[in-house]
Amino acid sequence: MINFEYIRVASPKAAVDALVRDSTAQWIAGGTNLLDLMKKGVTAPQKLVDINHLALKEIKKEGNKLRIGALALNSEVADNSLVQKEQPLLALALQAGASQQIRNMATVGGNMMQRTRCPYFYNVDMPCNKRVPGQGCGALKGYNRMHAIFGASEKCIAVHPSDMCIALAALDATVLVTGPKGDRRIPFQAFHRLPGDVPQKDNTLERGELIVAVELPENKFSNHVHYLKVRDRTSYAFALVSVAAAVDLQGDTIHDIRLAMGGVAHKPWRLTAAEEFLKGKKASEENIRQAAERAMLGAKGYGYNNFKLKLAPNTLVDALKKATAKA
Ligand code: SF4
Repeated sequence: MINFEYIRVASPKAAVDALVRDSTAQWIAGGTNLLDLMKKGVTAPQKLVDINHLALKEIKKEGNKLRIGALALNSEVADNSLVQKEQPLLALALQAGASQQIRNMATVGGNMMQRTRCPYFYNVDMPCNKRVPGQGCGALKGYNRMHAIFGASEKCIAVHPSDMCIALAALDATVLVTGPKGDRRIPFQAFHRLPGDVPQKDNTLERGELIVAVELPENKFSNHVHYLKVRDRTSYAFALVSVAAAVDLQGDTIHDIRLAMGGVAHKPWRLTAAEEFLKGKKASEENIRQAAERAMLGAKGYGYNNFKLKLAPNTLVDALKKATAKA
């Protein structure tokens, strides 16, 4: 049995103070990932600081931005009328994640903070640099079917597991945090990080920094979005490859476009080369296929995941055809 202390806090400041005071403490919100990590012995906080009662659930317009509280539940965000009307790509990505039961518990902030689902990370008998830095990467020459094809290092080839975050990356979200040194705003692309030599660090938060909200700028993509997730079964499975596509289509010309891919890197993988290629071009199959080729530059397989080198561009082509075909 693992013993730990449990406390509740009533304000973001109290939540931050609790973590700053005690280096063994961790926040808990929905707990849909943390409890698994604790049960498997991957993490063992001596104090759980329950942040579920903080007033961070609101979803509202602020000027021309949509602000989503960090403790809004995944299902609440997916069902919210403002989100569905103004940011439908986010609703689609959320609906593709996990199961209804998990979406009813998981929070937006927790979704962003979830750890990789690399099986070596969850098995404490296997080597894993993310769990124990310096121990080696079991997946590098192991069974790496679910692993990265972009941005990996010799230290870690894990992928980020979220669907929601793929849409947030495509939609140029901003993460609002508060911490011991005050408030700051982090562009979504700078929130998660690549493994490099420090694979144990998933994101750029400092100790004691609490996510309070994400902000999404207005866009003209609502009529042409698609989230395509390829997975081993149609529910409650992580992506082999996913694509978030948002297009501002004027006639049959792509005026503006955002693309991000999931299941392929340690962070949501933005496809800027494909975006730049497609801007101002017709949404033709030929152009879309050429964009997909550009998107794959630099991709590398590690053996069991080599199939992703074909699956990824094919998924991108499919997602773009669906996004640009919609009325
Ligand atoms: Fe650990 Fe990363 Fe290697 Fe998986 S891929 S075993 S998480 S170091």
